[in-house]
Amino acid sequence: MAQVDLHTHSSASDGELSPSELMALAHKLGLSTIALTDHDTVAGLAEAAQAAHAHGIECIPGIEIEIDFEPGEFHLLGYGIDPQSAPLLDATQRLGNARHERNEAILELFANAGFQLDTIKISELSRESYIGRPHLADLLVKARCVRTRQEAFDRYLGKGRPFYIKKSCLPLEEALSVIKAAGGVPVVAHPYSLFVSKSMLGTLFSRWKDMGIEGLEAYHPTAKFGQCVILERMARERGMFVTAGSDFHGKARPECGLGRTAGNMAIDSCYRDALVSALSHPAAQK
Ligand code: AMP
Ligand code: ZN
Ligand code: FE
Ligand code: FE
Repeated sequence: MAQVDLHTHSSASDGELSPSELMALAHKLGLSTIALTDHDTVAGLAEAAQAAHAHGIECIPGIEIEIDFEPGEFHLLGYGIDPQSAPLLDATQRLGNARHERNEAILELFANAGFQLDTIKISELSRESYIGRPHLADLLVKARCVRTRQEAFDRYLGKGRPFYIKKSCLPLEEALSVIKAAGGVPVVAHPYSLFVSKSMLGTLFSRWKDMGIEGLEAYHPTAKFGQCVILERMARERGMFVTAGSDFHGKARPECGLGRTAGNMAIDSCYRDALVSALSHPAAQK
């Protein structure tokens, strides 16, 4: 049985491994397909494609974009995107600027609260220009304000916590048009993070299907396996295809092993086949 992973992060966003290291690990584990889906950036995709080719692995270029949504978090995956698409690059540039402004505002909150962080430079937290809340959490760990990244989120940085500041993200319509303009196929990531009831999930999936979202990531390690089966059924009832991913970030999230998803299930290549068929399907050209 071929094993794949359709949701991974590299150091181009907040993952631990560079795109090349990620592909080397995938090769070592015997995976046949990896989709790289960094947050708000396509900066790792060229290196990923090259490294995947060298290892004889299929690389599906992707992105994960946060969408304006309440009460929870709405992450939209875009697969099969052209990393050179001008509207996509323009959107990632704007998202990067919004992220930078949000980070500066959070650092100001840290300073106002009297946290002694001045010996650590924010630029040392990441190998790339991308800085996210996980890096800011590491800053608090290094300064010994908290013991772990998770504690930093639970006490300070998570949604609703004192140092949470909303960053401006894309409205769904705009994210969809950017992904489609780049030739990509949109998929809802880890739907339980939306933090709405089951019946509301059903309403949203139907609405989003009508808006052009074609797939649903039913299998994600943060959900129980049984919950994922329910999501799979909801997707199928609406004619959406189903994907599965690990949301691999490296050591920082050891529960998400590469190639594994909810219930520690090895991700079968049937999920890759469904995605690739959607990528070549005329609906993707809409
Ligand atoms: P950002 O895009 O900079 O706001 O950071 C979002 C990332 O922070 C997510 O992709 C998660 O990796 C992480 N994150 C968000 N909320 C939490 C939380 N409550 N606990 C742990 N990690 C979180
Ligand atoms: Zn992340
Ligand atoms: Fe996500
Ligand atoms: Fe992710």
